[in-house]
Amino acid sequence: MPSCQGILRSLTLTMLAGGMLLLPSQTTEAATAPRMVNAAPVLQQSPPKRLLVIAPHPDDESLAAAAMIRQTLNAGGRVRIVVMTNGDGYRGAAAQWFGLQHPTGQDMQRLGVIRQQEELHAVGRLGVKAQDVTFLGYPDAGLHRLWLNHWNPDRPYQAVNGSRFVPYANSYHPQAPYCGQSVVGDLTRLLREYRPTDVLYPDPHDVHRDHWATSAFTQYVLTAAAGDVRAREWNYLIHYPRFPSPRRYRPEAPLQNPGRLADIGAKWMSLPISKEAEADKHAAILEHKSQVQMMKNLLESFVRTNDLLSAYSIPDLPDRELQPIELDDIGDQKTLLHSRSADIRELLAVSKPSLVQLAVVTTRPLRPQDECKLYLRLPERGAQYEFASLARYRLPMPAVSWSQHGNLMLVNVPRSLFDGAKTVMIGAEVTSRGNSSDSTAWRRFRLR
Ligand SMILES: [Zn+2]
Repeated sequence: MPSCQGILRSLTLTMLAGGMLLLPSQTTEAATAPRMVNAAPVLQQSPPKRLLVIAPHPDDESLAAAAMIRQTLNAGGRVRIVVMTNGDGYRGAAAQWFGLQHPTGQDMQRLGVIRQQEELHAVGRLGVKAQDVTFLGYPDAGLHRLWLNHWNPDRPYQAVNGSRFVPYANSYHPQAPYCGQSVVGDLTRLLREYRPTDVLYPDPHDVHRDHWATSAFTQYVLTAAAGDVRAREWNYLIHYPRFPSPRRYRPEAPLQNPGRLADIGAKWMSLPISKEAEADKHAAILEHKSQVQMMKNLLESFVRTNDLLSAYSIPDLPDRELQPIELDDIGDQKTLLHSRSADIRELLAVSKPSLVQLAVVTTRPLRPQDECKLYLRLPERGAQYEFASLARYRLPMPAVSWSQHGNLMLVNVPRSLFDGAKTVMIGAEVTSRGNSSDSTAWRRFRLR
């Protein structure tokens, strides 16, 4: 195994040979450049000119974006941070902060205001001005409901903060109904106003529902606005079983991707952080005091020698035969409902002239009480579809057929449903008596 110094030297040579700016200030920071031991390869890209960081909660930008923010600012670029929720859905944090047993919706909104203030203090530590932070005020612990169940404004979602609309006057769109269309409208407007060159947003495999839903919303708007906005896309992972490892303050160690996500189609990369930048990142994290009181070990486990990034391509759907399009980590179910709960292993697809076939493969055949759900989103058409294998609770979509073959659930979707769309977003879920057993990441695919 090569020595740490040897690795560092070869990285430095690569950086110089490529002419790429990897460490923001090579003269002042190279002397204290961190050790990159067993981390993902260093990102070899020019710094962003206009970076847009999308954070589900106040604190995610501090945990995951410090290195790219610094790189951008040091190269003379601009940074804008969009915070999807004010983190006003965490009852435990409100109870602890205010010393209450049963915090009300109003208490949760008070926590939201505190978390906004913490956010502004934190980004100041990262060199970002308050005017470059946008709070959207959507529901903490509810973004996935907006994405899956509450798309239209006529059926808004009622949040833990007691509201069905954005209750914060300092939000980007005050009074916006809590629904998927509102989120899409705001993010699209922000993209068109700011025209980012780079967007950093959550990894689709993040198991926190606000995180994967933020990832899905961002992919959706980037696809729908692709004619106007062309940005490089980068992802970050915060919540995943046994990640970061170890889950405690280890400032000398690299941040490594979970081994179980090594082969799911992501390209993992590191952005090194100097000692000085690492200290600023640590200070930013500690500004989120209402969160530090609840999960200091998890938050400080992101103080490492690098930030970790992932990137995904948008593959074509296969057009000859049913082939795997997405792998799902085995054993990634958050809560095992039953010892025989379904665990999704992979998605298969084939796109034919008259229909698109999609298949969900599980580790064992579904039981009669299990239901397989397949969700499609067509960002360019603004269309959403949900197909359920049992369809107990809703009318089955005409001309969509399901069949089960051992541990493979197959659904045939007529091509006409896609209405000329070029991109389809796919998510699958297995439920047991209405409770989610396992779900896949939301990813995009091209239709040919
Ligand atoms: Zn978060």
